[in-house]
Amino acid sequence: MDISVVVPLYNEAESLPELFSWIKRVMEANGYTYEVIFVNDGSTDGSVSVIKEMAEANPEIRLISFARNYGKSPALNEGFRKAQGDVVITMDADLQDSPDEIPDLYRMITEEGYDLVSGWKKKRYDPLSKTLPTKLFNATARKVSGIRNLHDFNCGLKAYRKNVVKSIEVYGDMHRYIPYLAKNAGYKKIGEKVVQHQARKYGVTKFGLDRFVNGYLDLGTLWFQSKFGLKPMHIFGLLGSAMFAIGFIAVLVVLILKIVSICSPFYEFYVTNSVYFYLSLAAMVMGLQFFLTGFIGELIARNSVERNNYSIAEEF
Ligand code: UDP
Ligand code: MG
Repeated sequence: MDISVVVPLYNEAESLPELFSWIKRVMEANGYTYEVIFVNDGSTDGSVSVIKEMAEANPEIRLISFARNYGKSPALNEGFRKAQGDVVITMDADLQDSPDEIPDLYRMITEEGYDLVSGWKKKRYDPLSKTLPTKLFNATARKVSGIRNLHDFNCGLKAYRKNVVKSIEVYGDMHRYIPYLAKNAGYKKIGEKVVQHQARKYGVTKFGLDRFVNGYLDLGTLWFQSKFGLKPMHIFGLLGSAMFAIGFIAVLVVLILKIVSICSPFYEFYVTNSVYFYLSLAAMVMGLQFFLTGFIGELIARNSVERNNYSIAEEF
């Protein structure tokens, strides 16, 4: 199979028929063998019955239906697990991404050797309250991830070589950083393609302003994981050692001052009046805490956590 299109959706019933017939038109015009995997993320608006109805006449349609709303990342993750195509293309369900981009994206993966091609909504049809913070956010993501050539990390329209989606785990809200996940998994040829963008035709956006706060927190987590995820002691041990060193020096200072004060008739030194005494106390306690955190981190790193365990109501 040439292409799997993975479409995460949450209450997008009105858009689905238009989206599918558009995808189908493009696929048939180019002679691709394909499947469209709709991942219903707990919709309550009848999206599932729309998909089922379309599936009766179209065997290319597959459905994964979550029992409740888990988020876009889990939806993509399950779609990735199920995808069979050599190239996997993700696309939002709201008709903001254009299926007409599929042939170019497919070519960039199969002929130009890209592992991942991310869409770039160079001209956006979204409110300023969204586009402005997004610029800032992308600048940070570029810096932290070291992927300098991407302008639009979170574009819903992306294409992947099959191995890429099979070797990354998208959980939490990490869909914003899939290029970074791919890079950390060892896929280096990451490209970008300017894509058409439309204003949302039906329905409303499913993300509020908290997306930016959460986005930054996740970026911090990812950075930490890629640096120290498998070796937490390297950072906590370092911080702990530094604290112990500071504490040790402070204790020495206290000791020396005390000895001087005992030997000298002119100089009085009270340990509990000394700033060095409190410094040594604080530093030692913090040092110990860093080390304990490091040990616990090491234990957790060695026991893989099951993050992706979603209850799926039905699938075909
Ligand atoms: N989505 C989802 N689960 C969620 C939120 C969103 O599957 O919890 C889907 C949504 O239906 C759409 C895509 O993710 O297909 C992008 O969402 P949206 O268009 O609301 O985001 P925006 O374009 O405003 O960034
Ligand atoms: Mg949208």
